[in-house]
Amino acid sequence: MPNQRCRKCKKRRYPRQLNKQTLCSDCASAVNREIETRTSALTKAIDKAIKAKSVNAQLRCYARIDKESEALIEIEKIGIRVMDPPPSYIRRFYNRQKKNVLVNSIENDIRSILKQISLYKQDHSKLNAISKLRLKLIKHRDASRYYEINLPKRIDRVIDQVEVQEFLYQGKKAGNTGDVNGAVKLYKAALNKLMTDDIDDSKQAKKIKAIKMKIANS
Ligand SMILES: [Zn+2]
Repeated sequence: MPNQRCRKCKKRRYPRQLNKQTLCSDCASAVNREIETRTSALTKAIDKAIKAKSVNAQLRCYARIDKESEALIEIEKIGIRVMDPPPSYIRRFYNRQKKNVLVNSIENDIRSILKQISLYKQDHSKLNAISKLRLKLIKHRDASRYYEINLPKRIDRVIDQVEVQEFLYQGKKAGNTGDVNGAVKLYKAALNKLMTDDIDDSKQAKKIKAIKMKIANS
């Protein structure tokens, strides 16, 4: 009875039937085929990531790179060198890339949202759009929490600004329909939001003064 086992299929084999990695010939060729398929998929995903035109397409490629390199790292654990540079290096490198792409795209969104918030000052007719922006920011905040410590804090500040904008819009709408109490309540909510956020009140004194005037004049 052979007394050694193949480390993959665990079948008993004679020592001469096992290779350096203690794999039987069936498992050795299966592993080689897997290395071939996975390295080729990995190379393709890297190539596609470079050419990808949208952030989502890039992120899909990075997810594929992560999956394939992780599987190759598992194969390396049985003592087989699968490629050069090693898959652990590739995985680290592209996870950093993924973080950069994600953070950059969130930064761009924040910039454009901030621009839109100030636009709404002139045109308060797009409340749904404002709410959508807020949801987008909340999604960003959850995604970025994993990567960045400062970004979620900044996103929360922008969300506060969006909410102030929403209260002011609703307040104006209530005022226009003659609901004075409702308007005052909403202006006070906006004021409260501004005065309890983590931005120094002196830095938003103009806004605070304007809202206090609105309440006084209602
Ligand atoms: Zn085997």
